[in-house]
Amino acid sequence: MKKSDCLFCKIIDGEIPSKKVYEDDKMLVFKDIEPKAKVHLLAICKDHFKLLSEMDGERAELVKYMLTKIPEIAKANGCENGYRLVINQGDDAGQTVFHLHIHILGGQTLGW
Ligand code: 5GP
Ligand code: ZN
Repeated sequence: MKKSDCLFCKIIDGEIPSKKVYEDDKMLVFKDIEPKAKVHLLAICKDHFKLLSEMDGERAELVKYMLTKIPEIAKANGCENGYRLVINQGDDAGQTVFHLHIHILGGQTLGW
């Protein structure tokens, strides 16, 4: 898929509206359109890459950056008591958007 066809790249570019809760030069965090928990945010990196399995050193630095920012963002958005991070990899995991994203789920006690 070309970057220009990517839903999350369109959200980054502002072509598709989203409820943003955090943005800087490397990452964007916004509310999931179909929340699976009381708080359901999506953290995406601004560089387009499709799959966790496409990880390399540079991308790992980006994910590391996101993981260092997520605690403060989660806390500021109703996840003071904890939260769950999920990355879906590929079809069996139900990945539907092929731009790496970290689900942040919380705001309630989470079952499996
Ligand atoms: P995946 O299943 O690929 O891990 O997660 C994709 C997520 O993106 C889903 O939870 C879905 O609800 C969310 N999503 C899909 N389209 C949109 C959209 O246009 N806006 C927002 N905010 N979230 C979306
Ligand atoms: Zn993209």
